[in-house]
Amino acid sequence: MTAQHRIAPRSGAGFRLAKGETLVVVDPMGEQVADLLVFNADDIDEVLSSGRSFDYAERIYLTTGDKLYSNRSNVMLDIVSDSVGRHDFLLTPCSYDTFRICYENEPPHRGCFGNLAAALEPYGVLPDRIPSAFNCFMNVPVDGETGRFKVLPPISKAGDHIAFRAAMDLVVGLTACSAKDSNGGSFKPIEYRIEPAA
Ligand SMILES: [Zn+2]
Repeated sequence: MTAQHRIAPRSGAGFRLAKGETLVVVDPMGEQVADLLVFNADDIDEVLSSGRSFDYAERIYLTTGDKLYSNRSNVMLDIVSDSVGRHDFLLTPCSYDTFRICYENEPPHRGCFGNLAAALEPYGVLPDRIPSAFNCFMNVPVDGETGRFKVLPPISKAGDHIAFRAAMDLVVGLTACSAKDSNGGSFKPIEYRIEPAA
């Protein structure tokens, strides 16, 4: 049994994930988003790319069987299990400016962006290198005609998970999201565990 780690509400974590290992991201209480970002551990200029991943999947909602690609079109993660089936890969990590622009009546917070920047700083990742993250459990339905989207509460229930197998050695940033609308109005923890290569 591998240890399950807990990320406190509105915070983040940085860690390594070796090729072949599986990262399981768990929503322990339900309706909580976790932003996931990965970099090539041997060359942090290679990073997760939403655009490449959409190009090759020909869809914007990714789930079990889909691959997440880098800016160099290499597979970084394989989604091997998903009990929810709805995640977002369009929107950027919430940030100080998200709060300034979208939540003007609430105290600002550094958000997932600031939490990712802090978690990834020991690995040499500078804030300006942080792209759109894979937003586990985030529920962003898009109108297919107009392209207009809404941020709705996640459909994840307590104990739901999504699991990713690493296709290369990775540095990972993972958060418990800080933006109210993304998380059904309250801030909860996120849990994760790393399962060894089969
Ligand atoms: Zn966030």
